[in-house]
Amino acid sequence: RTVYVNGEFVSEDQAHVSIFDRGFLMADGVYEVVSVLDAKLLDFPGHLARLKRSLEALEIANPLEDDEYLSVHRELVARNGITDGLVYLQVTRGNPGDRDFAYPAAETPQTVVMFTQAKPGLADAPAARTGWKVITTEDLRWHRRDIKTVQLLFPSMAKMEAKAKGADDAWLVEDGKVTEGTSNNAYIVKGGKIITRQLSHDILHGITRAAVLRFAREAQMQVEERSFTIEEAQDADEAFVTSASAFVMPVVEIDGASVGDGKVGHVATRLREIYLDESRKTAV
Ligand code: PMP
Repeated sequence: RTVYVNGEFVSEDQAHVSIFDRGFLMADGVYEVVSVLDAKLLDFPGHLARLKRSLEALEIANPLEDDEYLSVHRELVARNGITDGLVYLQVTRGNPGDRDFAYPAAETPQTVVMFTQAKPGLADAPAARTGWKVITTEDLRWHRRDIKTVQLLFPSMAKMEAKAKGADDAWLVEDGKVTEGTSNNAYIVKGGKIITRQLSHDILHGITRAAVLRFAREAQMQVEERSFTIEEAQDADEAFVTSASAFVMPVVEIDGASVGDGKVGHVATRLREIYLDESRKTAV
C-alpha cells in the first residue's frame, strides 16, 4: 500500500513518524475518515470543514490547503486502486523532541498522515439487512467529544465490552441518556418521528448525521433533536446509527431487548437508500 506522510507518498513499510510526536505520546491530534464508493469520496467538504474545526479547537495550525487534502485523497485512492473503502487522515501537533505537557513552539511542523483501507462491497454490508445488536455502558469519555481527537481508548474499551457480550457495538450513556455509539451517532424512531441527540460538546457532530437529517427533512419525515433514555430506545419502533463508514446501520437489539419487532426497520432502510443515492451524487 502507498501511504502519505508529511508531503511524501511512500510504501507503508517506509513510512515513519517520530517517537516524540505528541500524537503518539499524548493523543494530541485529530482525524477524519472519508468513505470511498466507486473510487469517489463521500461528503468530502463536510469532513474537511470538521477537520478544520477540530484543529482550531486544539490550536493546531492547519498544515495543508483544502485542495491539497483533496488531491492527496484522490492520489491515494488512485495509487491503491481503491473502488470501495476509506481514506484515513490524521494531523497531530508534532514535536521536535523531549516530552513536555506544554505545547511546542507554534512553528513546529505538524505531522500529517493519510492512508487507504480497501473495503470491497462496503455499501452492501450484510449487517444492514440483519441489523446490529448493541449493549449500553456508561460514557466515561472527556467532555469535548465534538473535537475528533485520536484519543480513542475509551470507545475501544466499550467496543471490546460489546464484543465480549456478543454484540456489535455499545451505546454510551450519561446521566441516564444515550450520548452516541462508540464511533457513530444514535437514533430511535417512534410513531414515525426520528429522534437523535441535539448537538453540543457531548457528541461528535457527525457528517453523516447532518446529511441524513437533511435528507429526512427533505423527504417530509419528522425529526426531533433531543436526548433519549435506554428505556425509550428499547420501547421505540426502530433504532439505527450513522457514520461515514457504516452509513445508516439499523439497530435491532439493545441490552438484549428487541427494538420494535426485532427486525430491520423501514425508516432506517429508507434513510440508508436515500443517503447512499444522494451522497454518491455529490461524491468527488
Ligand atoms: N460519533 C463518534 C464518537 C464517532 O467516532 C463517529 C465517527 N467518526 C461518529 C459519531 C459519526 O461521525 P461521521 O458521520 O462524521 O462519521
